Order: sequence, then structure tokens, then C-alpha cells
Amino acid sequence: ERSNGSEAQVSGAEVIAQALKAQDVNYMFGIVGIPVTEISLAAQKVGIRYVGMRNEQAACYAASAVGYLTGRPGVCLVVSGPGLIHALGGMANAYMNCWPLIVIGGSSERSQETMGAFQEFPQAVRSSIYGRPGACYVDIPADFVNLQVNVNSIKYVECCLPPPVCMAETSAVCMAASLLRNAKQPLLIIGKGAAYARAEHSIRKLVEQCQLPFLPTPMGKGVIRDNHPNCVGAARSRALQFADVIVLFGARLNWILHFGLPPRYQPDVKFIQVDICAEELGNNVRPAVTLLGDINAVTQQELASQKSLPMNYYTVFYHVQEQLPRDCFLVSEGANTMDIGRTVLQNYLPRHRLDAGTFGTMGVGLGFAIAAAVVAKDRNPGQRVICVEGDSAFGFSGMEVETICRYNLPIVLLVVNNNGIYQGLDADTWKEVLKSGDATTVAPPVCLLPHSHYEHVITAFGGKGYFVQTPEELQKSLRQSLEDLTKPSLINIMIEPQAMRKAQDFHWLTSSKI
Ligand code: ADP
Ligand code: MG
Repeated sequence: ERSNGSEAQVSGAEVIAQALKAQDVNYMFGIVGIPVTEISLAAQKVGIRYVGMRNEQAACYAASAVGYLTGRPGVCLVVSGPGLIHALGGMANAYMNCWPLIVIGGSSERSQETMGAFQEFPQAVRSSIYGRPGACYVDIPADFVNLQVNVNSIKYVECCLPPPVCMAETSAVCMAASLLRNAKQPLLIIGKGAAYARAEHSIRKLVEQCQLPFLPTPMGKGVIRDNHPNCVGAARSRALQFADVIVLFGARLNWILHFGLPPRYQPDVKFIQVDICAEELGNNVRPAVTLLGDINAVTQQELASQKSLPMNYYTVFYHVQEQLPRDCFLVSEGANTMDIGRTVLQNYLPRHRLDAGTFGTMGVGLGFAIAAAVVAKDRNPGQRVICVEGDSAFGFSGMEVETICRYNLPIVLLVVNNNGIYQGLDADTWKEVLKSGDATTVAPPVCLLPHSHYEHVITAFGGKGYFVQTPEELQKSLRQSLEDLTKPSLINIMIEPQAMRKAQDFHWLTSSKI
């Protein structure tokens, strides 16, 4: 402000600085000269940090990195001509990286008739961060920098809103969910787009809930910590080569990912591509599903859609593990239930896990649970016994539930119910099968009666029974069962009848597995 009241004057440079500040632009890197020096001074005055560099190229790299790190574009300030030419390297890099950046160059003076381009600023900010983020250039004529204008004649444009969040088509989300659920060797590739989108929370949830392996790209590293058990970074080549379904979260199938082509990938690998840029979809490969939208939003859509479907083993055990008291006894039997449960459910104490054992016996679970509960009641009142049973395994000694209720033992029984031994059928398919002949000739021997209400077994004796089909119901009933010390409970957990464990990695082990 040069004078008082309505006569106060500001320079073009001050207007630029203020306009940038109003757009929440907080960092400027550059090399000053005529006519942009005033802009750097004005920027410092309004609280924008100015870092003077030695070459515009480095300044531009720095400004683009600030954009990636903060989500608001950094400014690279250069003089025209050679200054801008040097900055081009950084602009190209920001463009290719999809990082927001504003390059401001000072050019020579221009004639009056093209004046009034203040609004270029919000436009520049907006175009750098909306849609696919990237570089943009604002050319400021020299006479504009030094022009004096009346303060009251200026109206700064309000800070542009954060980029609107777009979601993917619902049908595509369902298709992706079903592809993922039926994958034998799924793989998530997490790119720097996911990092920029700040999707770490939702992606980690997806990884853990569905127990999916993931591979970060160089700058996707850290979206989920590198030492996460599901990170397959150490076996990158192998993970890429054997995956049958790959989800790309903000990563392009360029040279970094070997263009998505054989021999680095299976020839028939199915790609699910998540990107905010429509033009990117289908680049180099023909994707099985494309999810056009913001990564964070799309991941949440995926999570919601995974939830609405029947649960699988991994979803169930993920939620059980979340609530498992550290000092509990874990008893388990079943085929898939015991095998998969063992990989997810954690033990923290010695002699606190009892299962089918050396002999692979089914029917030991309830007896073992009763023993553990009797010992626990003596030594450590309040200690719980969690008994994780397959539906078939439960059937071997199900009547011991009466014993459990008679002595009011602190046992929570979980029946992971897939309507069968190894695998069952859903109710509709079961009905169809029965139409084709007598059950004893047509019913698959592995099948048990679909939709069996095993929880009624415990309510018959005064215990608490729950029938659950969704993760929310599972969480709630488990919480109640663990809190309620007055009664034993049984949670009948319906899962996808065809749910499978992940394919055995070492094929020579497969035949010896139960
Ligand atoms: P990497 O090098 O880690 O593989 P790339 O730069 O190849 O990552 O890919 C990043 C991708 O992320 C780009 O295609 C870009 O369009 C996309 N992207 C950036 N921000 C978002 C977002 N918020 N939501 C979805 N995709 C995004
Ligand atoms: Mg990439």
C-alpha cells in the first residue's frame, strides 16, 4: 500500500503474490531477474516462502515436488527466454509425473489491450490440480509487474475448491470386486497416483480386509509400509509374473511396469485399472475392468462392495483378529477354517493354541475348548476361550454345547459356515441339484445342508446365538460375546460357499495338504 485510504496503490507484483496466497499457494522456487524480482519480494511479503535456486531446472523440479507433497501447486519463478527454456525440463517432468506445478515467467511488456488477466491465477491453480494433476505456465508481462493499481480496484478470486471427487461406475465396481474375489493370485500395484490421492487409509483397509498382496512402484513405496506382511516388494518379478488379476492404483503400465506385457506378466492376466485420467485407461493392455475416478473414492466403493457380498475366510479372520483378546485360548478345527485361520489369527502365549493336531482329528474342538475353559476359570478368571470351527467340524461334537451351557463356560464358539466340507453349495444351486434326482445319488458328498442355523444349537440350552452375514454383524456379535461374561455364545458366520484359500505357492506341497 503506497498511500492511505481509497487512494492506496499496489503493484502488479503484489497483486500476483496476493492472488497466489489467496489460492493457498505457499512455496516459490526460482531464479530472479528482470522483470520477476519484484514478484519474489512481494511473495515473501505475503508469507510465501521463496527459495532462490541456481538453475531454473532444479527450481522447477523443486516446485513440482512441493505440489506432489502438499497437493497445492508450488511456483517456479523464472525470467523469460533462457529462464523458461531451462524450466521446461522441470515442466516436462511434472507433466509426466502428473504433479501440480505453476511456472510463472516474466516476459517483455505488452500492449494495453490484453490487460486484465488476474483471473489467470485461479485458472492456473485449478488446472494444475483438477483432473490429472500437471504443470501449467503463466506468462506475466514486465509492465504488469510494475504497474500501480488502486487497491480497491482489485478483487482477488476466492481460493479454488479442492478438486471435485469423482467415483467409478457402480457396475464396474461390482465387476472388479468379483474378479478380485475369484482371483487365485491377486496383486495390487500401488503407484504414486495413490500417494498423491492420499488413499493410504482406504487402500490399507482393502489390503488387510481381503488379505491382498501388494507391490509398490518406486514412489508408491510407503503408501502402505514396506514391512507390511502383505508387501511382496522383495519378490517383485515373481509377483508380476504369476498374478492372474492385477489392480493398478494410480500406476501406469509404462516402462517401470514393463508395459504390462509378457514375458513379465501372464499373457492372460486381467488388469483392473484405477485412474483419474480417462485417456490413461487401456494404455498398452486391454483392461478387464476400468475404474475411472479418484483412487480414494474408488477404493472406498470397492470396500463397500466387498462388504455387501458374502464374506470369505480372510474377511472373517481379519475381523476376528481385530477383536481377539491377546491372552485368549484359541481352539480350532476344520479344513480351510483351520488352515487359513492359523495364518491370520495370532497367538501371543505358549500352550494357548489347540487344534486338530498330529492326527488331523475332527471333533476334538469342543472337548479341547471345555478343557481350556475349565483350566482358565481356575487360573485366570476372565480369560476367554475362542473356538473357531468349520461347519463340518462343529458337527462332530456339536452336542457338547450342552456341556458348555451346563457349566456356563467362558467360551465363544465361531462356526465358519460354508455349507460343506472344504466347499459347499448356495441354497439355490442346492435346490437345482436336488431336482436332477435323489439326493443320495446327485448331492455332492462334500455338501452339507445350506443355510443351517447352527446358532440354534446353543439357544436351545440358554446360551447366546448369533447368525451373521456381514462384517458389521460379525464385529457387533463378537464384541457382545466377548463383553458378556454371563453366558457362552455361538456365532454362526455365513461365508461364500465356494470361498477358497489362496493357491498354494509351492505346488509340491499341495497334494499333502488336508
Ligand atoms: P508410478 O510411476 O508410481 O507407476 P504413474 O505416474 O505411472 O505412477 O501413475 C500415476 C497415475 O495416477 C496417473 O495415471 C494419474 O492420472 C493418476 N492419478 C493421480 N491422481 C489421482 C487420483 N486422485 N485418483 C486417481 N488417479 C490419480
Ligand atoms: Mg507407473
